[in-house]
Amino acid sequence: MVTKIDHIGVAVKNLEESLKFYRETLGLDLQGVEIVEEQKVKVAFLPIGDTEIELLESTDPDGPIAKYIDKKGEGVQHIAYRVDDIEMAIADMLSKGVKMIDEKPRYGAGGAKIAFCHPKSTNGVLVELCQRD
Ligand code: ZN
Repeated sequence: MVTKIDHIGVAVKNLEESLKFYRETLGLDLQGVEIVEEQKVKVAFLPIGDTEIELLESTDPDGPIAKYIDKKGEGVQHIAYRVDDIEMAIADMLSKGVKMIDEKPRYGAGGAKIAFCHPKSTNGVLVELCQRD
């Protein structure tokens, strides 16, 4: 059902500051930056091989990333798995007893269709399912 790691989401306080490590130290290329209003987040895309790192900075003190950082500090916030068919993947998860945060796909950065699984069902990891057409 899942085909690869689509991306790893990293919560950061300051995108510009964090980009220094990824661009200058690791030498990754910044492919673009997008604001996802619905998630109150600014996302930077840094492809590496067949996957990418997404840096996530909150655009609002009440946004999910701001809350995550308040609670746990900066760091890896979620792991996204690529799926071919998100509707089928959600149905499959539900049928296997996985608690879903999103039972319907929603818009993700980069035009993806995404759905989050509840960390209670995944040993504490926020797992994202991600379909790209
Ligand atoms: Zn993501």
